[in-house]
Amino acid sequence: TQKLISPLNYLQYMFKYIQKASVDIEKMFDIMDEKPEVFDRPEAVDFHCRAGKIEFKNVSFSFKPGRPVLSNLNFVVEPGKTLAIVGPTGAGKSTVIRLLFRFYDVMAGEILFDNQNITTVKQRSLRRYIGVVPQDTVLFNDSIRFNIRYGRIDATDDEVDAAAKAADVHDAILGFAEGYDTKVGERGLKLSGGEKQRIAIARTILKAPKFVFLDEATSALDTNTERNIQASLQQVCAGRTTVVIAHRLSTVIAADEILVLRKGSIVERGKHKDLLEQKGLYHNMWMQQLTPDKHEASDSGNE
Ligand code: ADP
Repeated sequence: TQKLISPLNYLQYMFKYIQKASVDIEKMFDIMDEKPEVFDRPEAVDFHCRAGKIEFKNVSFSFKPGRPVLSNLNFVVEPGKTLAIVGPTGAGKSTVIRLLFRFYDVMAGEILFDNQNITTVKQRSLRRYIGVVPQDTVLFNDSIRFNIRYGRIDATDDEVDAAAKAADVHDAILGFAEGYDTKVGERGLKLSGGEKQRIAIARTILKAPKFVFLDEATSALDTNTERNIQASLQQVCAGRTTVVIAHRLSTVIAADEILVLRKGSIVERGKHKDLLEQKGLYHNMWMQQLTPDKHEASDSGNE
């Protein structure tokens, strides 16, 4: 259950308990925590989605005073572009994603979405433009169709099918005894890690958010599955402003900018080729990645 420590995963976990109650990610915050960390300000206004730009300006964050988790981060993700974040375990990668989702408020600096400070807008009005694909997706105890349609409840069956096709999971679904009506989740058919992630991708494709935050699976998938998942992930990110915690070479190669985080600071940044040429931390990390037995213990197995 260590995996549940990550709030984004925890959110997925909480899905189980609310079942059909709501399609609001926001609602889950109410359930998972008696005292949510972050409230809308009384004067909060609706977020106005424009081109889809994200900006971190001098952002610092800590859980405990005197122990900074992120120190003075600056970056811009231009509309439709992809920012990849890499770095050792504990560097602060998930914290960046949690701050983007406004799971916590920053201690210093500001986070802007289309030039609007996220602390000044109603969370719900912003989150409807955000899609999250976590490492481990926990599915509802309900049909596959329901699990995909959760991305946008007014979607037609045809739209659900189209999203499943784009996520490359349609054929697998047709292979199950009851097709799209097959019950999944804890009390239903157990799906593989790859299938679950594809359902999450299909759900996000259906939602068609402006912003996509994605935590790539660290577990070793077989090369075929891996290649297909990559294609599906590219589908979900295409044309959307994307921030991805990257573990895959193909992801960083395609990224418009890579940030190398270490102890909460950006120690290197640039494109894959330039970073490799620097022969620094990034270079070392990718060299290590080529030797599987050097993988960190915490990066093992999805399931
Ligand atoms: P990464 O995703 O790069 O592995 P994280 O963003 O999860 O790193 O964590 C960054 C640092 O913040 C780590 O030192 C971690 O122990 C600490 N941290 C993460 N979550 C919490 C929390 N809820 N309370 C206190 N410290 C935390």
